Amino acid sequence: MRPFDYQRPAAPEAACQGMSASPHAAYIGGGTNLIDLMKLGVMAPDLLVDVNRLGFDTIKDLDDGVEIGATVRNSDLADDPRIRVRWPVLSRALLAGASAQLRNKATTAGNLLQRTRCPYFQDIDVPCNKRKPGSGCAALGGELRNHAILGTSEHCVAAHPSDMAVAMQALDAQVVIRDADGQTRTMGLDHFYRTPGDTPHIETRLNPADLITGVRLPAPLGDRQVYRKVRDRASYAFALVSAAAVMQLKEGRIEYAAIAFGGLGTQPWRDPKVDALLTGARPSEALFEKAGDVLLRSAELREGLEFKKPLAHRVLKAVLTEATQ
Ligand SMILES: Cc1cc2nc3c(=O)[nH]c(=O)nc-3n(C[C@H](O)[C@H](O)[C@H](O)COP(=O)(O)OP(=O)(O)OC[C@H]3O[C@@H](n4cnc5c(N)ncnc54)[C@H](O)[C@@H]3O)c2cc1C
Ligand code: SF4
Repeated sequence: MRPFDYQRPAAPEAACQGMSASPHAAYIGGGTNLIDLMKLGVMAPDLLVDVNRLGFDTIKDLDDGVEIGATVRNSDLADDPRIRVRWPVLSRALLAGASAQLRNKATTAGNLLQRTRCPYFQDIDVPCNKRKPGSGCAALGGELRNHAILGTSEHCVAAHPSDMAVAMQALDAQVVIRDADGQTRTMGLDHFYRTPGDTPHIETRLNPADLITGVRLPAPLGDRQVYRKVRDRASYAFALVSAAAVMQLKEGRIEYAAIAFGGLGTQPWRDPKVDALLTGARPSEALFEKAGDVLLRSAELREGLEFKKPLAHRVLKAVLTEATQ
């Protein structure tokens, strides 16, 4: 690991100032992803700005929702009674991720910004456009399994790894961001991530010193909430395919549907056409099958990833069946 400086500011202004001081500085939350990548030589910040003393460690009630502080630990978020009752899909998604020890350390903001688990990204001896822009992509022509089939480009096919972000995508979460000038703005999670295109190293619409201070969840529009994750091992593994469903039924019809997916896209994936197809319809196997067709209409099934198409169909069907029963 290369030498680096470390700051532990007590106020957001000082944190943003620290970040602005060096183009190679990085915020650090729980460090469960960043430190691993520093040990592997994938990331080499010259300054770490610790965000754990900035006062963003609580979940605040809003008029009709909550604001989750950026440093709220994944385990605290999953266990919070408000989350378990009104946003259970988020609690379930969090508990499907990592391990209890990791969740005790991992933060809300860090989870959103964790980097891909593409093995070639983590191996500094092979080309990777995300790690070193313009160097090529070792995954294309290599072994593909945990990679994406939606939103990919010829420059990168890495899947977004977060379970939490998939549930937040289905819940219309808004990321709260403080910029270097002290201005605060919010950004819908549907706009927060970028697909790789020809710049896979730029993963979000954050500016360099932007500090995530929290995530707002509006009141849920559906009380039928399901999260399902399929992976190679029963625990401690990332999703091959996952789906979060937030739905409301009225008189036998689907009144509201918001479905998001993990393991399929280069970002937590939500397709408005899937939601629109389901909304107003009566639940049926044929409808769920069609929803899968709509979801996967532009899927790129590169060699090794063909299995994701039938798997995604089955996961979607299972989630929709459970949510509408
Ligand atoms: C063995 C293992 C298994 C795992 N399994 C899963 C899994 O199944 N599902 C899953 O979803 N995750 C899984 N994870 C990933 C884990 O959830 C992430 O490592 C964790 O959520 C990252 O949070 P952190 O606070 O530790 O982030 P850090 O490592 O501290 O930071 C991650 C990134 O976020 C940036 N950052 C942190 N805070 C802020 C802020 N406030 N503002 C702006 N930028 C910020 C950092 O600069 C860094 O780039 C696993 C991890 C491991 C090691
Ligand atoms: S898929 Fe993306 S992250 Fe993986 S090697 Fe290719 S460019 Fe790098």
